[in-house]
Amino acid sequence: MCRCIYCNSEDLSVSDIISYALTGAKLTKKFVCHKHNAFTNENFEKTAIANLVFFRNSLGLTERTGNDIKYKANLIIDGITIPNVFVSNRASIYEDKKRLFPAEQDGKKVLIGNTDKLKQKQGVTDDNIKILDIKDSIVSVTFSIEKLFASDEMLRTISKIAYEWYCYTNEINNFLPETYQDIVDCILMKRPVTEFVEIVVDGNLDYALKDICYLGSHGLFEYIDVDGYKYVILNFWGIVYYKIRICNLNNPNLDLANYYNLYLYGIDGEKSQSCFGTLRVTETVEKSSFVSMPATQAIQQFHKVYTSKLEQLVKTTVLTLSKTKDCVDSLRKSINAYQQYHDFARLVEYEDNERVSTIRLLLFLVEHKNDYAMDKTFNENLKGLYKIEDTLTVTVEEKIEYLKYLLSLHERDSLLNIIADGIEFFDKIYANEKGI
Ligand SMILES: [Zn+2]
Repeated sequence: MCRCIYCNSEDLSVSDIISYALTGAKLTKKFVCHKHNAFTNENFEKTAIANLVFFRNSLGLTERTGNDIKYKANLIIDGITIPNVFVSNRASIYEDKKRLFPAEQDGKKVLIGNTDKLKQKQGVTDDNIKILDIKDSIVSVTFSIEKLFASDEMLRTISKIAYEWYCYTNEINNFLPETYQDIVDCILMKRPVTEFVEIVVDGNLDYALKDICYLGSHGLFEYIDVDGYKYVILNFWGIVYYKIRICNLNNPNLDLANYYNLYLYGIDGEKSQSCFGTLRVTETVEKSSFVSMPATQAIQQFHKVYTSKLEQLVKTTVLTLSKTKDCVDSLRKSINAYQQYHDFARLVEYEDNERVSTIRLLLFLVEHKNDYAMDKTFNENLKGLYKIEDTLTVTVEEKIEYLKYLLSLHERDSLLNIIADGIEFFDKIYANEKGI
């Protein structure tokens, strides 16, 4: 029988160990009381998650209701900046028939929005409406990496995930104060979080896990350090490695060779485990330890590394079977509208990255139809065919070129057939792998 892992209360509720807002992999257990579930959520988790909103949207995570995540951005359309607009994707802006956005152009106040909506305003005639070119519009978001990954709220959220995950995997079903009082005090904000959570800046770890922890995933493992403490390492979204001090075992780990059992929770809901090892060559080098430093300092010192990883995250579509299925289903809906209006812009969802990548992937699959091995998984096939890992990164230039190619197919009236072939083939792949 479980009791609360923070206070031994029996008034239990289900805890989202890694919040649904941060992963597609459901990881829950009924071992936290109502009071402490609300405490962690209200005091820091909510804020940490809200700070990450733009990147959660980029990863294709959704709200609990299944709706797209909206974030605040500045839009620059045809040279005019519209500040602080709530958007979820490009279609949410261009197909918005309700909102008119106030902006300024050359010192003059202007309104931007759907033309029919504009005409409903008093005194507006066709003459004072100017059609804007949406082709080169920019959605711009500002953020501070320090706030995202080193804020007090984020570090406490990380300590909460680590402790709950640790209890979950070790089947600890109640609060053991003699061992875990310190980490529980940290999570309950009675101790400074910086004493418990640091960021790993150890190139060896990065190297060992670079092919395992991918963008959007959470990877966790525990280990005993040379200092005699037990730690959990948490790789957040393939971007930051956090090191969380769980308890003092007073038993330094002096082994030279160490093996670790890594648990991986994928953005698309997949869970897996793998082993990896480290070997320290000389006695003078510290044995089992991963070099870490205070989070703020690590973010400042390695600012460039984290910026480029975040850029990568925004530019990259994580190619998993279920994510691709969602994208294909959404494309299917747009095709009906395309058949009716022959509107290229809407078919490519106003050049939305995810949409363009989906079409590109479908066309690629059709092209390599004969090489696709149905006895292998989707991701194994992609690795084999693309000669890449399970993500697809496209540069701005590549995307522009590719859109030109699609437009030429559209003008020749052959785009629809090719996409339909792609969807049909993808449906076959999906049914085969899911055993439908
Ligand atoms: Zn409790």
